[in-house]
Amino acid sequence: MKIDAVRTHFLDHKLDTAFESASMRFDRRTHLLVEIVCDDGTTGWGECLGPAGPNAAVVAAYAPRLIGRDPLETEKIWLELYNAMRDQGQRGLTVTALSGIDVALWDIKGKHIGVPVSTLLGGRFRDSVRAYATGSFKRDGVDRVEDNAAEIARYRAEGFHAAKIKIGFGLDEDLRVIAAVREAMGDDMRLMIDANHGYDAMEAIELGKRAAEYRIDWFEEPVLPEHLASYRDVRAGQPIPVAGGETWHTRWGMKEPLETRCVDILQPDLCGCGGYTEIRRIMDMAALHGVRLVPHVWGTAVQIAASLQFMAALLPNPPRKNPIEPILEFDRTPMPFRQAIVAHPIEHENGVVTIPDGPGLGIEIDRAALTEFAPKD
Ligand SMILES: [Mg+2]
Repeated sequence: MKIDAVRTHFLDHKLDTAFESASMRFDRRTHLLVEIVCDDGTTGWGECLGPAGPNAAVVAAYAPRLIGRDPLETEKIWLELYNAMRDQGQRGLTVTALSGIDVALWDIKGKHIGVPVSTLLGGRFRDSVRAYATGSFKRDGVDRVEDNAAEIARYRAEGFHAAKIKIGFGLDEDLRVIAAVREAMGDDMRLMIDANHGYDAMEAIELGKRAAEYRIDWFEEPVLPEHLASYRDVRAGQPIPVAGGETWHTRWGMKEPLETRCVDILQPDLCGCGGYTEIRRIMDMAALHGVRLVPHVWGTAVQIAASLQFMAALLPNPPRKNPIEPILEFDRTPMPFRQAIVAHPIEHENGVVTIPDGPGLGIEIDRAALTEFAPKD
């Protein structure tokens, strides 16, 4: 089996209502899928975290190195592609593009052997995971406190056991939102907050101290990802567990945050940190340092399925009889192509998602949807 073609599929949708995190405004949803086709017809799918156009350009730059290669040689290919860009590309788009390619190669490997990727990773510890709802961004033209509280009440009604809201818009407003959301969700749901690196260390410490009474599971990306000393300050200076890692790439990007205990919870993104080949190493590093791993997930059904395969094989940690179970980040923000691009949508039932058990990622792509959501302008 040899690789015949490497293609990218740009998905695009203009939103009716824009929404914002502390670091980004979304008036469109754009995501990039990677398709790798082999000479025997086997096709693998991957996805790249981050801006679709630049990711497509980097995938195209890697593509000539893939043609004619054996797709089963995932480790050799990873190293060769990483080496090709290493001098200028130790993190960022070079790694997110490589991640999409790597995930597609593992999909091919699973389909070729006839097993899900979770089997290739060593076997399943679980067939389903609980999901937490990610939403509650700041939306144009509405009262954020009321809007976020109403949204959380919907997640509760849908059966979610946990939800994550966006903060980083100013301490007083954020605290009003947190209080309203906790009241709307009741006592038995878990609540996480994500500042998308919108604070500096002093603000984050004050927010954490004042928000702790609302029982927050974790405080995600409190400060800029480059400021590891600020992470350590925030972790030491306020009581909420600190999470981060969605913008840290490869084992080298995770090394210092783990060794210097910047976070209580590490959040590598499978489609950003280097694909399956790399996230396996990151999983071992996190376990070695006694840091919990909860993957970041922000993408289409391809990324969700890929992350579910990883989560199925995620080692129980600690390895006791009733280990702490991983939870799936389940984005609830508007993205009409998220599930439309697969024949069988990956949905939750009462906040629980079943992990696909077909070969590879366990999904079937709907090509008509790829055409429907291709950029029109
Ligand atoms: Mg986040």
